[in-house]
Amino acid sequence: MRLAAPPAAPVPLAELAGRPLTTWRYAEALGVPAEPWRAATLGEGITPLLPAVDGISVKVEYASPTLSFKDRGVVLLLAQALASGASRVIADSSGNAGTAVAAYAARVGLPAEIFVPESTSPKKIGQVRAHGARVNLVPGNREATAAAAIEAVQAGGAFYASHVYNPVFHLGTATYAYEVWEQLGGRLPETLVLPVGNGTLVLGVTRAVAGLLAAGRITKRPRIVAVQAANCAPLAAAWRAGAAEPVAVNATPTIAEGIAIAEPARGAEILAAVDEIVTVTEEQVLAGRSELAQNGWYVEDTAAVCWAAARAASWPDAVVPLSGAGLKTAWTPA
Ligand SMILES: *Cc1c(COP(=O)(O)O)cnc(C)c1O
Repeated sequence: MRLAAPPAAPVPLAELAGRPLTTWRYAEALGVPAEPWRAATLGEGITPLLPAVDGISVKVEYASPTLSFKDRGVVLLLAQALASGASRVIADSSGNAGTAVAAYAARVGLPAEIFVPESTSPKKIGQVRAHGARVNLVPGNREATAAAAIEAVQAGGAFYASHVYNPVFHLGTATYAYEVWEQLGGRLPETLVLPVGNGTLVLGVTRAVAGLLAAGRITKRPRIVAVQAANCAPLAAAWRAGAAEPVAVNATPTIAEGIAIAEPARGAEILAAVDEIVTVTEEQVLAGRSELAQNGWYVEDTAAVCWAAARAASWPDAVVPLSGAGLKTAWTPA
């Protein structure tokens, strides 16, 4: 499925005001049928946006049914699976997308099989199992996991609930930007700082920004800064080199497991969509997680990368997502 261009936009603020507080308030921009969405929703999105420190605001994306922003896109994947008459779903993930697919599959009553790298946090694996999904632990890197899932899909009979390949996922992650726009009273901040692994949040947000601009809901494009872990940064390396495609890198392990993607399938699209790509070290991620916790926000390691990048830079008026919950990965404060 390909998405129509130009992207749609939500109705104007005044019209949104009277609507129920669900992401369905942006139905005109989502452009998906209502019935399957209603069957699949678990109450995702509509997360708080709060000023934190030094011009940085946080959007608390872990305040979502499965504790990460992946719910925004997965609800649409399962709605589509339902509408297409699927009898079971397959997904591959480094963790959070898998937990979300497992939960939303349970919600719509479809059996799910989730492929994850064997190094995935045990808590995420436990979460997948709790929803009744079958877990396949795959040795090797994230790419090996994707290959195993695709092989299973090719065997036939299952809907591929892929957050990377299915563009309907980006319609869902676009709601992140619509919410920021609505919460700020009809504007976007100067800088949107976003994590990037496979770019599912980046691509949804850049699509939303294009739609808001095209509809005249905003007049100025925000600066979009993507953040990678220095240990696994094929997109940052390409951005620095001025390359249009991701650069082959010698990735080393990173605690930011949710963005440890050495070969992003949509790399060229991501590079074309963002204004800048920066990296953060493992030490910065740990310090960021710690600082967030000391301010009351308990996030998983991956969810500290944007905060860490924003603390190292001086972007006035930046919004950073707290993309996943602290209970998802182990952490012993020093
Ligand atoms: C998925 C995820 C991200 C972003 O990854 P993309 O692959 O770029 O969509 C960031 N943080 C957390 C916690 C995630 O689960």
